[in-house]
Amino acid sequence: MFVCPECSAVNSADAWNGATREYYGDNMEEIIKGNKDFYYFICPECKGKMEGENIIELKFPEKGGGKIMSKTKIEWATHTWNPITGCTPVSEGCQNCYAARMSKRLAGRYGYPEDNPFRVTFHPERLEEPLHWRKPRMVFVCSMGDLFHEDVPFDFICKVWNVMRYARNHTFMLLTKHPKRMLEWFQAVQEWSEYGQGSYMIFGGGKPKSYGGDGIIVGKAKRWPLPNVWLGVTAENQQRADERIPILLQIPAAKRFVSVEPMLGPIDLIQSAGIEITDVGTFGLIDWCIVGGETGPGARPMHPDWARSLRDQCQAAWVPFFFKNWGEWLWVHPERKRHEYSSPPEKCSTIGGMRFYRVGKKRAGRLLDGQAWDQFPERSDSP
Ligand code: SF4
Repeated sequence: MFVCPECSAVNSADAWNGATREYYGDNMEEIIKGNKDFYYFICPECKGKMEGENIIELKFPEKGGGKIMSKTKIEWATHTWNPITGCTPVSEGCQNCYAARMSKRLAGRYGYPEDNPFRVTFHPERLEEPLHWRKPRMVFVCSMGDLFHEDVPFDFICKVWNVMRYARNHTFMLLTKHPKRMLEWFQAVQEWSEYGQGSYMIFGGGKPKSYGGDGIIVGKAKRWPLPNVWLGVTAENQQRADERIPILLQIPAAKRFVSVEPMLGPIDLIQSAGIEITDVGTFGLIDWCIVGGETGPGARPMHPDWARSLRDQCQAAWVPFFFKNWGEWLWVHPERKRHEYSSPPEKCSTIGGMRFYRVGKKRAGRLLDGQAWDQFPERSDSP
């Protein structure tokens, strides 16, 4: 089966046999590596002529096979995709890392090493997964690790990038605590063109491999940055926001977002971004803000005023705001003191004189001042 990236028609191999093809990179692996990219064809459905990076062959996976499910309960994504797993804690937000906890449970299964399940591990067999998904998905990339971890070679990042480039139907959200490494990768991508083939974005600069050079094709200049890839940083407190957001703002992206999760302190986004709001919409450089509390064993409480402040900042700047949840804790209303006396000490906490009670994620819920905040940035019209 083949899918046309323009009209999304899925056609049988027979239909495509009748299509005009000048050159077709027939080896998906080579295309993902960025070694092959040049051909054109006429789509039997929409009759459009496609040049360059287009047709994708779908080899539907066999049933079963012990595949890990890609659907997710994460409120701001529909699916996850983990071509790498594993990571190393880098800051306060990592203290109770969900991915580390889950990796332990999965040790020895689904490609997680038995001896050290949270070691950075590559899963090249998962690279093609998004190319098999037919309906559009909102995909959290590397939910069980960090794609820009120092142990992930840039070559592998290029392969992940090329899959996102071809899987145009889907929106990919990349979240990192290593924005410097993300910036380094982008700084190594340069425009190249020859023989009227159009301009390509080449990782490593110079000629691509198909022209005798060492560069890896990661996109076309006219479609750069990729419209279906959103880039974000995690900022759990003001210090991390100040460190990471200015780096994110130097990276070209269709959408940039900040995930404040787990929220461990108040954050002034304007201070972090180094810009001022002078008019509606001037915030502009950040396209989305996600806020959430911490869940699981050891979870820390989130003060409601921290979340309110971020919501208000986003509203003032017309930045979509997504409130994920409160985490495990809720504050105790001053008039309801009984929790404090009837609960064991590990279920009580205070922040700045405000008392909190550990009620569990479900009871704590996800309403902020009685309202659900489920705002998203708009997807690009032509992914
Ligand atoms: S960066 Fe993310 S995945 Fe890595 S240890 Fe920290 S919380 Fe876990």
